[in-house]
Amino acid sequence: MKVVYTPAHLLHNPSVEIEKSTTHSPFENISRAEKIREVLSADTAFDFISPTQWGTAPINAVHDPGLLRFLTTAWSDYQRDVGAAPEVVPDMFYRPAQRRGMSQGQEPDSVTGKLGWWCFETTTPLTSGTYEAARGAVDTALTATQLVLSGDKYSYGLCRPPGHHATSSLYGGYCFFNNAAIAAHHIATTTGTKVAVLDVDYHHGNGTQEIFYDREDVLYVSLHGDPNRAYPYYLGHADETGTGKGARCNFNVPLPARTDDDAYLLALEPALEKIIKHGAQTIIVSLGLDTFITDPICDLSVTTDGFRRCGSAIAQLGLPTIVLQEGGYDVAKLGDNVQAWLHGLSA
Ligand SMILES: [Zn+2]
Repeated sequence: MKVVYTPAHLLHNPSVEIEKSTTHSPFENISRAEKIREVLSADTAFDFISPTQWGTAPINAVHDPGLLRFLTTAWSDYQRDVGAAPEVVPDMFYRPAQRRGMSQGQEPDSVTGKLGWWCFETTTPLTSGTYEAARGAVDTALTATQLVLSGDKYSYGLCRPPGHHATSSLYGGYCFFNNAAIAAHHIATTTGTKVAVLDVDYHHGNGTQEIFYDREDVLYVSLHGDPNRAYPYYLGHADETGTGKGARCNFNVPLPARTDDDAYLLALEPALEKIIKHGAQTIIVSLGLDTFITDPICDLSVTTDGFRRCGSAIAQLGLPTIVLQEGGYDVAKLGDNVQAWLHGLSA
């Protein structure tokens, strides 16, 4: 299986994260992708290639072009207008309720105002190289997608930063551009075939759901920690099933704490049935390994062998599958877990 990787991710290297009312070194850090690279590059089953460049059009096809415009210069604008700051984070967030009964707000002129306009939370700092790293992750996803469109049965894009929390017009949750959504939109619009995004990250992919919520060409299916206790809190409930043409094209499976391998595999079954019923010709997996039993920020109990079984269950569908990296924060085991998952898929 080909692995698409770029060292551009090293350019996004924040030293602090504001989370749980404190600051700490970021859970989402460069060692995650480097650990995966280390393990897969020592395994002869995987061949590494570099991404090709896809430009900005595929990003603007999914996101509000203002998001990309903002991220292109936000960090340097902040240094110039506000002052030197290695990590740039909003002080205030635009929320529509602030303007209840008034016209909708508009993007402010100042960089501080723009930050709260385009970002939805505090754990996702901008650094000097963030934009370049985020562009590299999109190129990685699209290059992995092209491999499958050109005939490979499977491919793996080692995307970092991840993408599934980025909505059409907001970044956050460690995500800037929605790599999986950009890839899914690319397949749906260039081939005219249906696509399924299967999101197995611990966290609900609120961004991917929002982007495709009213579309029938891209099915979104997610297994995740119940939002009643888990980030992103406001989305991921079972009654969010799509709207308009996208009615019944969104399928959420919220899971209780400590869900183990057998229970997880059981919960995966109806999700896979949805994919078949939808008529998807291609699957994009948003692969998060933060469902792992010792993940430091999550509470499910999936094991390394459980990941192998998940990959194997998805292979049973017999569909071309593009696997894109999302979360996973037990760095010591992250490489082994990705390896096990991909071996389950391609065995
Ligand atoms: Zn996650």
